[in-house]
Amino acid sequence: MKDRNCIVCGTPLGEMPLMTLEHMPASAQDIPSEEEIENDKGVTLHLHQCETCGLVQFDCQPVAYYKDVIRSGGFTTTMVELRRSQYRHFIETFHLEGKKLIEAGCGQGEFLGVLNEFPVMACGIEQRESLVQSAREKGLAVWNQFAEEGAVLEPEDGSITGPYDGFLSFNFLEHQPSPVSMLRCLADNLTEAGVGLITVPSLEYILQYDGYYELIRDHLAYYTFDTLKFAVEEAGFEVLEEEIVNRDTLSVFVRKTAKPVASETARQGRKPEKIDVSGLIESQTLIGRELENMTRTLKSQGKRLALWGASHQGFTLAATTEIGRFAEYIIDSAPFKQGKYAPASHLPIVSPEHYKKDPVEVILIVAPGYTSEIAGAIGEKFGGDVEIMALKSNHLERI
Ligand SMILES: [Zn+2]
Repeated sequence: MKDRNCIVCGTPLGEMPLMTLEHMPASAQDIPSEEEIENDKGVTLHLHQCETCGLVQFDCQPVAYYKDVIRSGGFTTTMVELRRSQYRHFIETFHLEGKKLIEAGCGQGEFLGVLNEFPVMACGIEQRESLVQSAREKGLAVWNQFAEEGAVLEPEDGSITGPYDGFLSFNFLEHQPSPVSMLRCLADNLTEAGVGLITVPSLEYILQYDGYYELIRDHLAYYTFDTLKFAVEEAGFEVLEEEIVNRDTLSVFVRKTAKPVASETARQGRKPEKIDVSGLIESQTLIGRELENMTRTLKSQGKRLALWGASHQGFTLAATTEIGRFAEYIIDSAPFKQGKYAPASHLPIVSPEHYKKDPVEVILIVAPGYTSEIAGAIGEKFGGDVEIMALKSNHLERI
């Protein structure tokens, strides 16, 4: 792994990572079945910062499905409202009424459907065929394609043709091993002064509020406004506006520039700020210790534990701490996860009904953003006997 280069500027990443994460889930989406757990192993991830452009990134290979947009959770009314207000602002700012917009990586059209409320011509591309089909069933103009340098973004049947006046990309760039290639493709498929709206998770938010369990192999890159700006400029865009949305997400408006910023000049004067991950490293130790203490106490009291939330955060905690060995199972209400096993820890994932057959005394909720909702559901379904705990940032709390 010594020879890996920065995914944006190509500088060798060197041998000294910012931090190393051992026994992490190999993916957040490919959840192994009973036959597959034999071949599923935890992976070691090295988090690096590029000394030239400053981008924080893992030096590993991407997950197999990095071209697909699987939005398993978070499709809430809050999210729809957020998209609506972003679309409104984007369309007003660049006078895009009646114009042609393309979403790169649109999944099954969760957000494209909302864009259709506006007076624009909205279409999208998606790599995973089953998601393309679902989007089409909703009447959305979606076809099977992936944005990489050289690709002409048009459906084969000729029903839609470029160039486009604008593009949208929602939390997709952080999965990409070649983000500049994707952005160049989008630039090449835009009109002369074409514009774009890009969102990615904020590294600063993770550093400030979250623990190490927010880092996942699926997300190869952890952007700041500064490193995102550098990446879009490498691809021939300029950033016109930047804002934080939903507290944890970076959102930028970009416009294609007449001539790309000279790469060498951009790099030479650059002195990226050194990212401090000591809080994340500390969270590994603190959380590890808290969970170890908890399991020791429960063991001595003869109590058993289950987790609620087959989320990537739950998978990571189970894979990297004592609870992976101690807990009985992970409860999740998503039917497609039930009957499978958490990656790396191999805890079985079960439905909420399983609790009645095999009750435990304590449930630890690991579903950031949904804790109170789930706690309510547990009280309702299982009665008041079960103790409920939750992980908040770096420590355990009784609910
Ligand atoms: Zn770099």
